[in-house]
Amino acid sequence: MEMAMVTMTHTPLPLPQLNHLLTASTTLTLSQLKQIHAQILRSNPSNSLLSKLVISSCSLSSSSSGLHYALSVFSQIPNPDTHFCNQLLRLLSRSPTPQNTLFLYQKLRRVGSPLDPFSFPPLLKAVSKASALYLGLEIHGLASKLGFHSDPFIQTGLIAMYSACRRIMDARLVFDKMSHRDAVTWNIMIDGYCQSGNYDQVLKLYEEMKTSDTKPDGVILCTVLSACGHSGNLSYGKAIHEFIMDNGLALSAHLQSALVNMYVNCGAMDLARELYDKLSSKHLVVSTAMLSGYAKHGMVKDARFIFDQIVEKDLVCWSAMISGYAESDQPQEALKLFNEMQLRNIVPDQITMLSAISACANVGALAQARWIHTYADKNGFGRSLSVNNALIDMYAKCGNLIRAKEVFENMPRKNVISWSSMINAFAMHGYANSAMNLFHRMKEEDIEPNGVTFIGVLYACSHAGLVEEGQKLFSSMINEHGIAPRHEHYGCMVDLYCRANLLRKAMELIESMPFAPNVIIWGSLMSACQVHGEVELGEFAAKQILELEPDHDGALVVLSNIYAKERRWNDVGLIRQSMANKGISKEKASSRVEINNEVHVFMMADRYHKQSREIYKKLEEVVSELKLVSYTPSTSGILIDLEEEDKKELVLWHSEKLALCYGLISKRRKESCIRIVKNLRICEDCHSFMKLVSKVYQIEIVVRDRTRFHHFNSGTCSCRDYW
Ligand code: ZN
Ligand code: ZN
Repeated sequence: MEMAMVTMTHTPLPLPQLNHLLTASTTLTLSQLKQIHAQILRSNPSNSLLSKLVISSCSLSSSSSGLHYALSVFSQIPNPDTHFCNQLLRLLSRSPTPQNTLFLYQKLRRVGSPLDPFSFPPLLKAVSKASALYLGLEIHGLASKLGFHSDPFIQTGLIAMYSACRRIMDARLVFDKMSHRDAVTWNIMIDGYCQSGNYDQVLKLYEEMKTSDTKPDGVILCTVLSACGHSGNLSYGKAIHEFIMDNGLALSAHLQSALVNMYVNCGAMDLARELYDKLSSKHLVVSTAMLSGYAKHGMVKDARFIFDQIVEKDLVCWSAMISGYAESDQPQEALKLFNEMQLRNIVPDQITMLSAISACANVGALAQARWIHTYADKNGFGRSLSVNNALIDMYAKCGNLIRAKEVFENMPRKNVISWSSMINAFAMHGYANSAMNLFHRMKEEDIEPNGVTFIGVLYACSHAGLVEEGQKLFSSMINEHGIAPRHEHYGCMVDLYCRANLLRKAMELIESMPFAPNVIIWGSLMSACQVHGEVELGEFAAKQILELEPDHDGALVVLSNIYAKERRWNDVGLIRQSMANKGISKEKASSRVEINNEVHVFMMADRYHKQSREIYKKLEEVVSELKLVSYTPSTSGILIDLEEEDKKELVLWHSEKLALCYGLISKRRKESCIRIVKNLRICEDCHSFMKLVSKVYQIEIVVRDRTRFHHFNSGTCSCRDYW
């Protein structure tokens, strides 16, 4: 009823009634407050009424406009008393925008309102929230000038302020001067050390605290455990665990999850699990800590076990499990779970969204990619910089450059990652010119390139045979942009020289490297030597690889081929022997093909597909068709001791050929292009097979292998046979 009066009346209400309205009701809206304000002004404005109005405006549940309004009313009060000012400071310091407290402080200073010791804690709290160090220093000075510097509440506030502003030494100075410290003070100081990564000091101060009269509480123990986890100090962490048990301290959910996290971060998953299993009731926070721990260590099966036990899962659980799958190379599981999450009506946050997009990129399935893109747009992630950057990468990895470009061009804001992703996308697909053009455009727009950008352009140069351009870029990267080259940059340059048959130059560059070359760099040199018939250098490179990676089958093949050609049968025998002994275990090759939104997976020679019989029939037909254009299966990539005929069968049953044939017979295929994703490098035979099929059957084939894209069209490949 009273509200109705406020909104409807045009004649001023008597003051007592206004007073009653402000005191009794807590549900006034901003416009109602403004009406009351107008009425107060029309009658006799009193300090006490205006003060009440200010407090009511501050208490408005949501809006920051209430706070602004409160401040504007406040400035109409002629001589506000200190008690009221403190009350207001406290209220403002609790709001999420600490700036208002600081505004008020500056206003009070300007009009010379007196401050008392109670004014300082809320002020320091606001300074901490805003990390406004200079204002904090001023307030510290003022407190000293007014003689309040030994007030323990102000001192504690100062410690918190200095640690929030990353001035841990200043915090410690105040701490050391204190004559009386309570648990809160210790906690703030210890937490300050933990936040600033000073874990040794956390443990030292904790020991000091134990010798004082203060008993450690759950909050302090959580901080100390977190420090143990971060510094990998398992024995100290265990000691804290024992201390908690021996003293019968209550194990709150937070303390439980702090213990689990400590064990997880120290890599002691078994101890984490032992503790977890002993808990009679498992709080969501603790289960999530356990699950995230497993996910972080790549133990997705164990993570899933915990995940499935949690009845009421929140977003954090889902997100941890999804990113666990995405990061341990099980993108399809990640997407399955993402879909399940939708069915439970849980809205993803940006982190979950990014995991799902990265999973899509790894699956390489275009239909799924389009779906996740639409989904991201619909759920308000369309303008997010990192989501858009991830989308560029995703479309590029799914083989759709046009879409990648579309996302790139439509971004409201681009950063160096956006530019680098797009440049890399062009480079990965063999479009060197587009990559270079984009690089020049980026420079025109004054975006400073970083190391990743240069990997993209150097890669593009090497694939397009732009030797001079590549050399220029490499030296400008070092000299003009001050970027120290890493393995990847040297790898691109070695590759550039190798492709241009400048093998000696490549070798010179390798010798000039400030750190040891890796397998990839030696691998480029080795393959180039094979192509260009440089036996001696090739042998040298292969031996370097085997030093680093004794099981490297590529290098073993090259060496045994070299020895076989030179009829050094003893050496051939030795290599075979060492391979048999080591029982070389290669990652199993598999290929995926996406037909009409469905992903089909093939392993070598597998017959699990329901149309397996038709697929093999088609394969036979394609092979005889290709033999007419002089195709002969090449078995040089196969090492196992087999009769030549058996080797030929094996080569023909490579997973990408099965995937391709399924693509060819599939009637539901709408696109003219067949897209295949292979987990390993495509072999030489499959590469020439794809080239011929693209010509004979007049279709486009896109194969993404472990390192790059091959666009097969009319008998040629975009990689120009270097991969
Ligand atoms: Zn193959
Ligand atoms: Zn190719």
